Amino acid sequence: MDTNRKEAADPRTIDLEALRAAFTGRLITDAGDLEPFTIDWRRRYFGRTLAVAQPDSVAGVAAIVRWCASRRVAVVPQGGNTGLSGGATPDDSGRSIVLSLARLAKVRSIDTINNSITVEAGCTLAQVHEAAEAAGRLFPLSLPSEGTCTIGGNLSTNAGGAAVLRYGNARELCLGVEVVTAEGGIWNGLRGLRKDNTGYDLRDLFIGAEGTLGVITAATLKLYPRPAAQITAMAAVSDPHTALRLLELAQSMLGSTLTAFELISKLCLELVTEHFPDHRRPFTEASPYYVLLETSDSESEAHASAQFEALMERAIDSGIVSDAVVATSGAQSRALWALRELISEAQALAGKNIKHDISVPISSIGDFVERTNAELQRQFPGIRMVVFGHLGDGNLHYNVSPSADRAGPGHEDEFLAMQPAINRVTHDAVVAFDGSISAEHGLGQLRRDESARYKSDVEMALMRRVKQALDPLGIMNPGKYLPPQ
Ligand SMILES: Cc1cc2nc3c(=O)[nH]c(=O)nc-3n(C[C@H](O)[C@H](O)[C@H](O)COP(=O)(O)OP(=O)(O)OC[C@H]3O[C@@H](n4cnc5c(N)ncnc54)[C@H](O)[C@@H]3O)c2cc1C
Repeated sequence: MDTNRKEAADPRTIDLEALRAAFTGRLITDAGDLEPFTIDWRRRYFGRTLAVAQPDSVAGVAAIVRWCASRRVAVVPQGGNTGLSGGATPDDSGRSIVLSLARLAKVRSIDTINNSITVEAGCTLAQVHEAAEAAGRLFPLSLPSEGTCTIGGNLSTNAGGAAVLRYGNARELCLGVEVVTAEGGIWNGLRGLRKDNTGYDLRDLFIGAEGTLGVITAATLKLYPRPAAQITAMAAVSDPHTALRLLELAQSMLGSTLTAFELISKLCLELVTEHFPDHRRPFTEASPYYVLLETSDSESEAHASAQFEALMERAIDSGIVSDAVVATSGAQSRALWALRELISEAQALAGKNIKHDISVPISSIGDFVERTNAELQRQFPGIRMVVFGHLGDGNLHYNVSPSADRAGPGHEDEFLAMQPAINRVTHDAVVAFDGSISAEHGLGQLRRDESARYKSDVEMALMRRVKQALDPLGIMNPGKYLPPQ
């Protein structure tokens, strides 16, 4: 139990009918209907809840939080429940309310001169893409989970994805937020301003807070012009050091039009083609690593193709790339992206695995992979490294699967028992390279204690003071983010 929380509620004394009467929307209490809200996407966390509340207005969200605050009932905000760190899963005490933002899903306004869109937190990322496209604009946040994840979740996890290199992460794409505070007040911070120096940046406190400080109910987001052309290519490289040489060359030849630069190891592609046989490796010869690149050009398709072909020619001539394919149609581009986006699902289908979401300075990625792979193989012979991610941002999903002969249901417990030791080697290496143990997936339950382990006492004390100031009763998503004291 979380000792940060004051006088947690006893579920036997809670009158849910009073909660039902406090807001308009849906209150789900039937045990069978609660289950999807109490298990995370990876099926690593199984919680319990008193009820799931789905209000259909901001006033309803505020009423629910006030009701919870008055009874010391914990509130677990939930969007699309696609988070990968267990942040949206309630604990197993059965004493919390899951507050689902699913019914708060309106596009409130679009301003094509200010290049901004204001949407409610429960809008899926795909809905926001569609609304932006209908107005002739681009909302560039790009995640494989876009059909299900929500803007509230994207901001609360400060999501990254495939276009951070060009456009930045969720925080950088947000101009303002509307928040229901932990006491049930409504703060309208929906300012569509690029410049605003009028006090502490409260918006930035709520972004990336994983629901531990308040509930984001709406956001004003930045829009961009739609590119005239996008070109995708895949290149075969020998190792991450060489991939970095390609990144440097691509940045010098393409400048800021380079939108994505993703690294994919050989095993990742093998997992995808094995579990999704409709998808094929685009090269006859396998390579230890591949890079997926994309450019967004504001001139024309012809201009983009000419630039990209010049890049690939130079990269092949200088021995950086051994082979390359450039997509010549939208279908080919989608097929290349599918190889990248299906990796997580393919790895999940292959059995339990140990995930790391790390970042180090971009220049250190090659050394990090080489040294950490070697140390892990020394200590855990036979484990398989599933390495992929946003190389252009210095962010890798540095995942570990069991050896082929110990994969599968009979060996899962044995493999997962190695997780603390594998984490220690990996995270110690990350810190030695001045990196972060959570680049874009947040802390949730999964990385809460690991993060605290590596932060200084000063940083932890400051974070606890922020939590205490904004959530004095400790009811907002307890047990996540900060370890209990
Ligand atoms: C196949 C797959 C691929 C993915 N790829 C990426 C990727 O490339 N990059 C990346 O960054 N992530 C990725 N993710 C992770 C996930 O999609 C993101 O973290 C996403 O931002 C979560 O959004 P959600 O609405 O599902 O949030 P949830 O999972 O519902 O919640 C996540 C956290 O935010 C809190 N929260 C949710 N809504 C609110 C709100 N309105 N107010 C306050 N707190 C809230 C929750 O309490 C929880 O702590 C991927 C996930 C999957 C399944």
